[in-house]
Amino acid sequence: MNISNSIPFLDLVSPHVELEAELTEVFQQVLRTAMFIGGPAVEQFEREFAAFCDTRFCVGVGSGTDALRFALMAAGIREGDSVLTVPNSFIATTEAISQAGAVPEFVDIDERTYNINPASLRKYLETQCDLDRRTGQRVSRHTGRLVTAVVPVHLYGQMCDMDAIGEIAEEHKLIVVEDSCQAHGAQYFSRKDNVWKKAGSVGVAAAFSFYPGKNLGACGEAGAVTTNDEEMARAIRMIRDHGQAKKYYHDIAGYNGRLDALQAGLLRVKLRHLAEWNGRRRECAALYGRLLASLSQNIILPVEPSVFRSVYHLYVIRHSDREGMQAHLSAKGVGTAIHYPIPLHLQKAYRGLGYREGDFPVAESVAPEILSLPMYAQLQPGQQESVAMAISEFVETRRTALVMSARA
Ligand SMILES: *Cc1c(COP(=O)(O)O)cnc(C)c1O
Repeated sequence: MNISNSIPFLDLVSPHVELEAELTEVFQQVLRTAMFIGGPAVEQFEREFAAFCDTRFCVGVGSGTDALRFALMAAGIREGDSVLTVPNSFIATTEAISQAGAVPEFVDIDERTYNINPASLRKYLETQCDLDRRTGQRVSRHTGRLVTAVVPVHLYGQMCDMDAIGEIAEEHKLIVVEDSCQAHGAQYFSRKDNVWKKAGSVGVAAAFSFYPGKNLGACGEAGAVTTNDEEMARAIRMIRDHGQAKKYYHDIAGYNGRLDALQAGLLRVKLRHLAEWNGRRRECAALYGRLLASLSQNIILPVEPSVFRSVYHLYVIRHSDREGMQAHLSAKGVGTAIHYPIPLHLQKAYRGLGYREGDFPVAESVAPEILSLPMYAQLQPGQQESVAMAISEFVETRRTALVMSARA
């Protein structure tokens, strides 16, 4: 295979080369003013990203993990609480929960969208938890702890069913903090409020990551919390800055979790292109859909219900011989990745939580089959045709091999 024809899983070079002059100017500006921490670039980015997300406030922080941890802390998650989320996510989701002092508990995902299944969430609260008559909250039988929050993860760029989750959360007095780290600009149509809503604007607060490979990526580490709650925004500003509102007057013990002015400046340049890039990703997803439609007997394609607008952070397909397909694509120069190979409840880090294989059958059944194809705004139709061709070849070879072995 000629390397120059290879199709990388991710292309982080092209978008920055295209914007090099503007990005370099930001860097020069920061050097010449020595505005390294805080300052106008951070504040301007916060205003612009809040506007992008349809929220009143945005607080820039050091990473998506910081964003989630600070959002949970500011939302009032306390030492000893239980917080519900899904096993099919990046470990930062549960790290933030434990770092906020709580224990993560899982509910299973929906087999079509790979996001939290609202029916499983309700069932867990109503059959695996007892009612605390004093507060109206639920107490988990698994941990004996008060279940105070749920973290829906808008995975792969598609939002969770937030109407259903909001309703359950209200009934059971759960705080909703969105993990929007993969969903910058994603939307769903709220039937309840008869309006399209954006990721980051639905929960009491939401966490975004600007890790370089995300739909909006910094040139290093960065993240943000969005919220409509002024008190919450104020609390997060304090937590990110050593618990101080005024220098050296510390109301609480906080963190060093600020957003660099350099990253904020670079993000401002890239944010202007985000809507267009997300549009390109949606076009790429539609093209994959057409190119792979004839293989739908053999592979499972992403499902985007009509009331959702995914921003396709990832384009994830499923096949029973995932390892074989990945090896074949790799031999053809097509880069792929797996998000994620091991569900969180089965990770070594969480042995202490007492989960076993079989606890979350849907998450466990999809984990060995999922494969993320190349997906980015700069992906070319010709490249997508090559990817589809390689997948089709693999499916065909495998079918022939199965027929031969059946005859033998
Ligand atoms: C990337 C990501 C995070 C963490 O973001 P960082 O900026 O890497 O700390 C959290 N949750 C999900 C779902 C992510 O994809």
